Amino acid sequence: MVDVGWKSMEFRQCRCGIIFGAPKGFFNTRRTDRRPFYCPNGCSNIFFQQSDLGRENIRLKQQLKNANVVRDHWKKEALTAKRSCASYKAHFHRLKNKMEGDQDE
Ligand SMILES: [Zn+2]
Repeated sequence: MVDVGWKSMEFRQCRCGIIFGAPKGFFNTRRTDRRPFYCPNGCSNIFFQQSDLGRENIRLKQQLKNANVVRDHWKKEALTAKRSCASYKAHFHRLKNKMEGDQDE
């Protein structure tokens, strides 16, 4: 007999916000085999064990550090481009004023 009552279901909230349920046996199996499972929106989920959490924490910290390095790089690039643009604009206006001045003579 398959019990599909509420008590035999386990509900989880995915990081996308959806709450979904499956038989407890399904989640218990995923906890044991640590294979990924998917929410109805297709997000991959996995149960981590305590030892995995330490590694995951280190991996995420490194990922954050890398993202910050990339962000800082592009901030500098944007600032350089902005300064370069201002410089070209100033040069353009100097030339334009000079040409207009030349026409008046
Ligand atoms: Zn999801």
